[in-house]
Amino acid sequence: MLLKVIPVGLLSVNCSVLIDEDSKGAMVIDPGADAEKIVKSLEGFELLAIVATHGHVDHIGQVKTLKERFNVPFYMHPADTFLLNDPVWHGFDKQIGASLPCPLPDVELKDNMEIRLGKTSLRVLHTPGHTPGLCCLYSEEDKILIAGDLLFKGGVGRWDLPGGNLEDLKRSLRRVFSELEDDVLVVCGHYEETTIGWERKFNPYLKSMLS
Ligand SMILES: [Zn+2]
Ligand SMILES: [Zn+2]
Repeated sequence: MLLKVIPVGLLSVNCSVLIDEDSKGAMVIDPGADAEKIVKSLEGFELLAIVATHGHVDHIGQVKTLKERFNVPFYMHPADTFLLNDPVWHGFDKQIGASLPCPLPDVELKDNMEIRLGKTSLRVLHTPGHTPGLCCLYSEEDKILIAGDLLFKGGVGRWDLPGGNLEDLKRSLRRVFSELEDDVLVVCGHYEETTIGWERKFNPYLKSMLS
């Protein structure tokens, strides 16, 4: 599996483009802004699915554009649909390069569901806390976790936004750090990549979150 991480928009959301090199099938995760940049990265490949880790506008801002262009299903957890066209984004959407209204998900993500991309498959981990529907996508074979805003290098996701919940966030972090090994690469929702091992050792917030 080939992974391209493309920072998009004013808030530098990490849009992940996953490609199965044999079948040339591709999946886009968190297309928040800069649709043209994302489309360019898909040249030579066939887009099969659009996935959002959660419903915040900086992560879903170009789902509409890509769906209209490629007519492929949009995957998201149903617990976040209330966020998609929340009037709270009004004005902010334009600033960060989002095109609303966002279509509702065609396929509902569920915990432990497998999403296939050619020979590879991604497992859905429903990890609420930052939002009620936040899901990580995990490739067992490549040891890559697409984490959305669950976790950042040296930080954790905010729980004070609409639908956020600290107890859920703690539970989700405990789960991820008990299920995944240290050599798993983590693509965070914003900023740098990290690994489970680095966070286990150096993340100052995790100690209290995991205990
Ligand atoms: Zn978020
Ligand atoms: Zn975000």
